[in-house]
Amino acid sequence: MKLLELFNSTVPLLEQSFNYRLVGRGGYNTVAYYGNRNDKIPSLMVMSMDNKPLAESDNFVVITVKPRIAFKKAQEKDKRNGVAYSPLSAQTALINYANSEVEPQSLQYMSIHSDIFNIKEINGRGRMFVYMTTTLGMSVGMFERNLGEVPEIDEGYIDVYGARLFFPENMRPKRKEGFVDLFRQLHKMFYAHSFINLIAGDVRFVKLTGNTLGLYYLATNDIRIKPTAQANNRLLFTMIHEHGHRYWYQFSSEEARKTVRETFTQLQKGGENYVNPNEDSIKQRQQDFYDQIEIGSTVNYKGRKGAFKRHTPMTVKNKEGGNLYLKSGIRDIVAASGSAAAFMNNQWDFEGVEIQPVEDHELHTYGQDSEQWFPTQYSMQDPEEWFAELFALYIMDNLHGKPKAFLETVLRS
Ligand SMILES: [Zn+2]
Repeated sequence: MKLLELFNSTVPLLEQSFNYRLVGRGGYNTVAYYGNRNDKIPSLMVMSMDNKPLAESDNFVVITVKPRIAFKKAQEKDKRNGVAYSPLSAQTALINYANSEVEPQSLQYMSIHSDIFNIKEINGRGRMFVYMTTTLGMSVGMFERNLGEVPEIDEGYIDVYGARLFFPENMRPKRKEGFVDLFRQLHKMFYAHSFINLIAGDVRFVKLTGNTLGLYYLATNDIRIKPTAQANNRLLFTMIHEHGHRYWYQFSSEEARKTVRETFTQLQKGGENYVNPNEDSIKQRQQDFYDQIEIGSTVNYKGRKGAFKRHTPMTVKNKEGGNLYLKSGIRDIVAASGSAAAFMNNQWDFEGVEIQPVEDHELHTYGQDSEQWFPTQYSMQDPEEWFAELFALYIMDNLHGKPKAFLETVLRS
């Protein structure tokens, strides 16, 4: 099948990995990925440049496309060309280029619209692999299935005591250093607890969806960390947690895993629960905040939500049972309401009221000393997550009492 047919047909999406939805594979010299179901043009195209199938090729062109900017541009006139831009011509340029027809024009077209197309020539499978799986965030599994075997590589990463850290191309050196430092700390901690083998493996700094800071991929034994994360204690905790998953699958015995699963079930049956040690302090501050608020006083919203911004400054219309009702400054409606706690952040400014916001570490209690069987809210998720959370606290020397003794037994068995 030629690429043109591929683009225009209603081939079902074959596979999805983060932003990539594949529309062609196997024996092709080119694969294309759509970012969204409704996109008119692919957001990524990979081509072999030596007439070999992708899996055997050594020379590639990788084109990334920003379909949304392309769509925006469709309504503008391209001044340099005097030609109206259209997604259709963008698609044609891509297809022509991929099919090696009228290549110079297509290439020229794409270079003119460099805000939409990023064309990158890559020599060597190793470099292609690093670029695809790091800067473009494709999973290693998807790479293997679509683009061929994972190559041996000896560049494109930073080695920290056997951990290979892969950073996206555009990451600032300062940021990289921060992450590398964190890994040095991690290594020290593993060393102190005789887990030196655990750090050896791949870690990729790639985009993750939502609030996720880290992920462990069982199939390819690699860890992913959000590249925009702050290199702080919370991230250190997350990284150890992900290594805990690696330990669970690569190093622990079936017997040990069985013990963890059974104990987890017993504890939950027995009604064991996570209790936030900061709960009293948080509740007290919420009460203090609520008590200070006067009906009729002015409230300024400083956040980014358009719906709230439009109605600010608001006034307190009512308070009842711990809830606040804020009246719009422009229309006679309640523009914002909810528990007082929801307003206790730096987006809201209540006239004459002091807010002591609840910090992330108070809510999630990462890296705080604990003797609880379920030391974090997340540890109640399932046996494996429980193990990973206990493991992280243990490695950071924050786990004490009975759960510590239990974990040590598990790690020995
Ligand atoms: Zn986990």
